[in-house]
Amino acid sequence: VHSPTVAFTVDCLKPDTHVYRVTLDARGFGPGPHEVELPVWTPGAYEIQDYARHLFDVRARSPEGKPLPLDKVRKNAWRLEATDDAFTVTYQVYANQLDVDTSHLDGTHAYWNGATLFVYVDGRKDLPVDVYIKAPAGWRVSTGLDGDPNDLWHYRAPNYDILVDCPVEIGTHRVYTFDVDMKPHTVAIWGHGNQDDDRLVADTRRIVETQAAMFGGLPYAHYTFIYHLADHWGGLEHLNSTTCLMPRESFKPWKAYRRVLGLIAHEFFHLWNVKRIHPEQLGPFDYNREVHTHLLWAMEGFTDYYAALTLRRAGLFSVTDYLQVLAEDIKRYEGLPGRYVMDLAWSSFDTWIKLYKPNEDSANRSISYYLKGHLVGLLMDLEIRRRTDNRRSLDDVLRLLYERWGREGRGFPERVYQETVEEVAGGSMADFFARYITGVDELPLDAMLDTAGLRIHRLTKNPDLHPGEDDDEAEDRSLVSDPPVAWIGAHLALKDAKVVAEWVATPGPAAEQLYAGDELIALDGRRVTDPKHVTERIRADKRPGDTVTVTAFRRGELITRDIVLGEAQPNTYRITRVDDPTPAQQATYQSWLAASWPD
Ligand SMILES: [Zn+2]
Repeated sequence: VHSPTVAFTVDCLKPDTHVYRVTLDARGFGPGPHEVELPVWTPGAYEIQDYARHLFDVRARSPEGKPLPLDKVRKNAWRLEATDDAFTVTYQVYANQLDVDTSHLDGTHAYWNGATLFVYVDGRKDLPVDVYIKAPAGWRVSTGLDGDPNDLWHYRAPNYDILVDCPVEIGTHRVYTFDVDMKPHTVAIWGHGNQDDDRLVADTRRIVETQAAMFGGLPYAHYTFIYHLADHWGGLEHLNSTTCLMPRESFKPWKAYRRVLGLIAHEFFHLWNVKRIHPEQLGPFDYNREVHTHLLWAMEGFTDYYAALTLRRAGLFSVTDYLQVLAEDIKRYEGLPGRYVMDLAWSSFDTWIKLYKPNEDSANRSISYYLKGHLVGLLMDLEIRRRTDNRRSLDDVLRLLYERWGREGRGFPERVYQETVEEVAGGSMADFFARYITGVDELPLDAMLDTAGLRIHRLTKNPDLHPGEDDDEAEDRSLVSDPPVAWIGAHLALKDAKVVAEWVATPGPAAEQLYAGDELIALDGRRVTDPKHVTERIRADKRPGDTVTVTAFRRGELITRDIVLGEAQPNTYRITRVDDPTPAQQATYQSWLAASWPD
């Protein structure tokens, strides 16, 4: 009797077909019916993807090559009848979607996310897995999987979870390496844009060093960054690797590149926060269905918070960069009516059917646990610092969770999160959690930033009032607000050369008057052909409280509505230091932002 073994061969020898040919060799499972199953989702991307929809030509054979009976029994499961100790299952996978949680095969490369490619047998996700790769001549492999030093095309995972946690990039991509803490790091870059590879690698290294310093080391033997330069954004975290998908022209100018750095810092930080520090629902995983946790605000929102903060600590962001990124997030957050409807715990739990399945009403009734979670991370950090005179911080919460649970990869019961925050803060945080995590109270951003000597300015900038103003003049009145401008309350976009209401703010001036999907054709009897014209005409000719007459097509039928205009949200958010800081404000600013004040 042999103990069961599992080996896959992945054949990417016909890349232009976009089809992987996969062979599973299973031994030691014994005769009888066996079930093989493919995940319906990928950890980290909380969306049912039904990867089995890309599988075809599934067959089972005996070791002698004799066909074995095979039935499909569920959307992602097959049952086969083996007569022997061993059997082989072959199938093909169509892979032509370039995203971090899908697989892509074409003439330039092979990229796979293992959940799309590898089945498991009889629930035996505990078994070690061998992977043999067949790829075109001249291609090479970059992955977090451990390789066979004697065979460049042979990799091995200690279990199925690790197998699908290690995406694989194969092709002629550029490969760069560096060591931090004597651990090798690989940066694999596929695609070309306005990036500077050397700078990208150097900045990546700086992120690794800074975040390693926060946790006191690196908990892996080696790490692989897979960077895809293409035409949209994406990122997915893994135990010892990440895939970051970035628009090819996003590396210049500096403000665009800040988002690149933010993505890399976010995904790398995840190797601690969510891959190792996580609630018990997030690993080991059930690949068959949704898994629910109330804590994604801590897993994702806090990761966003630390992405920006560690870039500041790394010196890659100036204080100005950091505060600009923060001000932008506060502005986005304050533009969303859904912040008064959905709390963070609910947003986390329902991500499968809310955040990942948005509709035209989402901004009104839901809130992103990334966006609000980022701001609550800031509040929690400043609150801990306030209570402890800067002796403790949110860093200590994460380090404690890592030491007690994450180091061994143990998931914790959800209540542990608040308990750990309270332990670090030295007292109850029940009120904080009730207001900002399970409640929808307005976030006390102004009051908490004041503890660090910072002030949020919510400004209206109306270019109509300053014709011919040059940059210096604009800078001189940078903290002076123009009077509020009028707002129609609908977010308009150009679709098929039509001005369409994408969503209608509820509550808001156009609520119950306009519907999402209405096609605006005239304002006060004059034609509109561009969303910008609507904004500009209202800004120039109207005041809050004035009425406009909107003519629109609704499902092709003409309607007319009189709308009383509201007040637009300020369009420029800035965060500045107060003029006469107290020693306490200076101390918080300095320890939090790793910067001196006075400079
Ligand atoms: Zn994330």
